[in-house]
Order: sequence, then structure tokens, then C-alpha cells
Amino acid sequence: MRDFEQRYGRSANSVRLLAVSKQQSIEKIHEAAQAGVRDFGENYLQEAESKIAALASLGLCWHFIGPIQSNKTRMIAELFDWVHSIERDKIARRLSEQRPAGMPPLNVCVQVNLSGEKSKSGCTLQDVDALCDEIALLSGLKLRGLMAIPAPLDQLDEQRAAFAPLADRFQRLKRLHPGMDTLSIGMSNDFEAAIAEGSTQIRLGTAIFGARRA
Ligand SMILES: *Cc1c(COP(=O)(O)O)cnc(C)c1O
Repeated sequence: MRDFEQRYGRSANSVRLLAVSKQQSIEKIHEAAQAGVRDFGENYLQEAESKIAALASLGLCWHFIGPIQSNKTRMIAELFDWVHSIERDKIARRLSEQRPAGMPPLNVCVQVNLSGEKSKSGCTLQDVDALCDEIALLSGLKLRGLMAIPAPLDQLDEQRAAFAPLADRFQRLKRLHPGMDTLSIGMSNDFEAAIAEGSTQIRLGTAIFGARRA
């Protein structure tokens, strides 16, 4: 990833790594933490709960990156440091209300659906500005950026073209919300394109840990 920063004219260390540890063992997370990784992403709450408890002494930073059901917001608000997958205002309000008073505000990204397919997670590009405005008013949340998972594509130029509208919107929203510093794009198969388009946080699972267990 540092090579790609250089190749695409990004400043050194401007891209952070989020290690996606869903369906990976506690031992593998521990190894990655020993190697210096601090940020880990999980999609499934029950699985995450036991890992976070088991690794609590390491002081890791935990990111929730999966779809959010409204009856699970309390647990997410209590367990995580970040949430990347906010797609509606109701969920944002619940997370804000349920964030425990003694904890710092929950760092959040709005997930955007770039493919326009209804079956995919995320709000539309049309709705993202209003949702960001709303989140900025919630005291339990800290608006940090945008996240997306584009449909899988093979070619670098196609992948870049898919990310470009989001990168553009991110730059525009940052002027309205100066606390926005996170463009959470890029997975194992498209992180080069994401870095080229301005990603500040790539979310790598299989590229770091190998295949997930079935
Ligand atoms: C699983 C997952 C990833 C990591 O995917 P890989 O292809 O294994 O890198 C990244 N982001 C989200 C939201 C995921 O669910």
C-alpha cells in the first residue's frame, strides 16, 4: 500500500489500514496486533463481542463495518470505536442516543451505494448530503467520512471510475464538515484503484489474513 501511495502521488502514510478480521481467529488477530496493526473491522456482532472481550488488554481500535439492524444499535454503540455502515438517519439517531455517556463520541462514516442496485447496502449519492448534515448535529456521533463497497470489477480503470463519484463528493462534503477526514474505500481486490482515487482507509481481509473460514 505504501508503494501505491507513492505511485499515485499520495503523501506518505496518508492511507490507513483497517484489517478486516471477520471469520478470522483470535490468534490471527493477536498476531496482526503484535505486528503493529491497531485497527480491526468486524461485520457480525456476536462474533465481534467475544473477540473484543478476549483482546481487551491490547487496546485495539474496533470498527463495525456490516449491515446494522435497529435492534442491535445499543450493542454497537457500547462496543465499537467506529461504525462505517450508517445508511439511514434512524440508525444514526439510535447510535447517538445509545452511546454511553462516559465514552467519546462514536466515529462514523456514511455508507454510499455506488451501484444503484436496490439490494445493495448504503444510501444513494442523492441522499448522502442530508444524512451527513443530520449526523453532524448528533452529540453522540462524530462524522468522519464516507464508505462504499462497489460491485466487483476486474480492471483498474473500471474500478477507479466506480470510486470517482464518491471521491468527488467526499472532497465537496469536507468543505462543509471539516471533521471529515476518512474516505473508507478499497478492499483486497481493488485497493490500488481506491488509493489512486484518494482512499484514506483501505479495508483488507483476505489480503492480510488469507481465506476466511467457511
Ligand atoms: C469482508 C469485508 C471487507 C474485506 O474484504 P476482502 O475482500 O477480504 O479484503 C471489507 N469491507 C467490508 C465492508 C467487508 O464486509
